[in-house]
Amino acid sequence: MAELNLILLGPPGAGKGTQANRLTEDFGLPHIATGDILRAAVAAQTALGQEAKRYMDVGELVPDSVISGVILERVAEDDARDGFVLDGFPRTVDQANSLGSEIEKLGRRLTAALLIDVPDDVVVKRISGRRMNPTTGRIYHVDFDPPKQADRDDEDGSELVQRDDDKEETVRKRLVVYHQQTEPLIGYYEQLGLLRRFDGTASPSEVHAHIRATISTLKLEEEL
Ligand code: AMP
Repeated sequence: MAELNLILLGPPGAGKGTQANRLTEDFGLPHIATGDILRAAVAAQTALGQEAKRYMDVGELVPDSVISGVILERVAEDDARDGFVLDGFPRTVDQANSLGSEIEKLGRRLTAALLIDVPDDVVVKRISGRRMNPTTGRIYHVDFDPPKQADRDDEDGSELVQRDDDKEETVRKRLVVYHQQTEPLIGYYEQLGLLRRFDGTASPSEVHAHIRATISTLKLEEEL
């Protein structure tokens, strides 16, 4: 089978995680989510987590020296042999260059960079309304998926919390970082002929249908 080495691009809150989960189901590829890897390291209080937390809490990017090695090793693991869905990496041109050389070293190439585009005001509304059950990790949204009783989990009644990096001020900071450091990757992958754009304001199912159709075409082209 042709490999499917996919990158998801787009601002925080674009729905990259949701789409990555669906692509994982569709194509049996591992979902490599940098944010999740870092949050797990923070929770486990590893050296990586302790270093990363300082940056994550204020919406800044963790330094390349902290993150790049972890992700490049992950991409080379056995379960990513037939491909992967990278979500949250690369986020800078330097990271894109390191990924490019690592992939080349492995004798592989990227299949596509999927951009899920969403305007800033939609991102702020989506993220700053998120509330989480700190014990189970279940996520609600004050407008789009509210709990039955305000700020209480429907199942165990625990008090819901807002993640530090979901606070409006931090979301705005994450957007500034996205525009400055990550957006240049759109031109970068466009020049390489790898960019595919999707309207992230559509429903998750519509975005998924569009992405799946695009990938099916790419797969056919690879197999020809
Ligand atoms: P995410 O869940 O992908 O929005 O990531 C949450 C936070 O983790 C970001 O705001 C950054 O602080 C950090 N992070 C995730 N991916 C990267 C990356 N590729 N490079 C640097 N920092 C990252």
